[in-house]
Amino acid sequence: MSIKTIVQRSMLVAGLVVGASALSATSAWAADAAPDASTAPAAGTPRILVLATGGTISGTADPRSAIGYNSGNVLGQDLVRGVPGIEKLANISAEQISNVGSQDMSDKIWFQLAHRIQEAFDRNEVDGVVITHGTDTVEETAFFLQSVLRSDKPVVLVGSMRPGGSTSADGPGNLYEAVEVAASTKSQGRGVMVVMNDQIHGPRWITKTNTTAVQAFASPNAGAIGYVDPASVRFVTPPPQSARNVLGLPAAGPLPRVEIVYAHSNMDGLQIDHAISDGAKGIVLAGEGDGDASKEALAALDRAARKGIVVVRSTRVMSGFVNRNVEVDDDKRGFVVSLDLNPQKARLLTQLLIANGVTDSQKVQQAFGGTW
Ligand code: ASP
Repeated sequence: MSIKTIVQRSMLVAGLVVGASALSATSAWAADAAPDASTAPAAGTPRILVLATGGTISGTADPRSAIGYNSGNVLGQDLVRGVPGIEKLANISAEQISNVGSQDMSDKIWFQLAHRIQEAFDRNEVDGVVITHGTDTVEETAFFLQSVLRSDKPVVLVGSMRPGGSTSADGPGNLYEAVEVAASTKSQGRGVMVVMNDQIHGPRWITKTNTTAVQAFASPNAGAIGYVDPASVRFVTPPPQSARNVLGLPAAGPLPRVEIVYAHSNMDGLQIDHAISDGAKGIVLAGEGDGDASKEALAALDRAARKGIVVVRSTRVMSGFVNRNVEVDDDKRGFVVSLDLNPQKARLLTQLLIANGVTDSQKVQQAFGGTW
């Protein structure tokens, strides 16, 4: 269903809650560090499309417990209406794509999102897109979209850690800032981003680092790419040379089956053998340390690679790179390393590569290392 509306100021949500994390930028990119006058649009008001998918940001508190809630209860158009002052930032239209907790995010919804965004940009309907999304898998959706969209106009994903109606609801403030970032001229050419709690993160690096805290996201290997408050958008990294990626959106889903296998002490090869017999086209190892696993597990991965299954070594560790040929002879075994991509993003990239016909381990390795 498509619900288009120029949003009027509304007082449905009593107050704009903006997280107050005091963060210092690690690299000052001076040319862009000034407050952003573009956040108060006058002539040529930016056109922003809000695509709602669900999540806590569209959840309502469950009176049965102090922390409980049901996600995916509020429609996107009502979320937007509930944010005081948001209408001053842009001409906003809202469409409902789904209303699910992002634990139920699916290839089907991803394809719908990608097609709708591409269409809106190709027809020059909008200057930027905001996607309201659950926080559990927002990093995967951001990475997927960045990999397949043929545009570098801003696409800003946003969620919240607290549902509407809770005492510390962070949704309205986050949504305000997401629209602010999508509408800013500074965001042109930056493609897909995630805005949470005053920070702007890139899809390759962002990950959820806390189960429940409002400050839940970080980019451990790179830091935030920018910061936002209700009056300013500041980027601390230069825009990428191109935010467009080379991978095509496959004609239809579902994406090929790729399993993540989590490494641990006393590991045998059974999980991996099961993945092979279940028809996996790729296996991502969430390895120990630098993507390591026991001799038995590595032997099972050898069996997979010999069958033509794409084997990628990633890590269960939150930060750092998985390097080639350190303790594991990747060249000899025909394995790929994920570098800085965590297992869930390594899985996605592997799925997209296989769907695009790229299965040779050297070519897969190039795609992992050559996209940023
Ligand atoms: N389970 C929720 C989701 O990802 C959590 C959230 O949105 O914060 O949809």
